[in-house]
Amino acid sequence: MISAPPEPLATLREAPTLPAFRNGQTLLVWCGWCRHWHRHGGHDANADGHRTAHCFRPGSPYRPAGYVLVEVGAMTPEVRAAHRRLRPSVAECCR
Ligand SMILES: [Zn+2]
Repeated sequence: MISAPPEPLATLREAPTLPAFRNGQTLLVWCGWCRHWHRHGGHDANADGHRTAHCFRPGSPYRPAGYVLVEVGAMTPEVRAAHRRLRPSVAECCR
């Protein structure tokens, strides 16, 4: 019996770079796929780098390769408000 070929290695796929906003020791990245903030550890002053995607919406394009976070500034009420307007109905969000 011939088995199906294995999935391509995730590390061979390109991880996109996403802007991250600092909130204390946490980096928050806006996920354009599920339209939620994903939280990642940011204990180090320079916490930029690759992360496994915290996106659980089925079919998320971030899941195979994750993403690379680049800190762009502090999380502010203005940043949150700007992204909140992008949020769709709750039914479309991953939980
Ligand atoms: Zn997501």
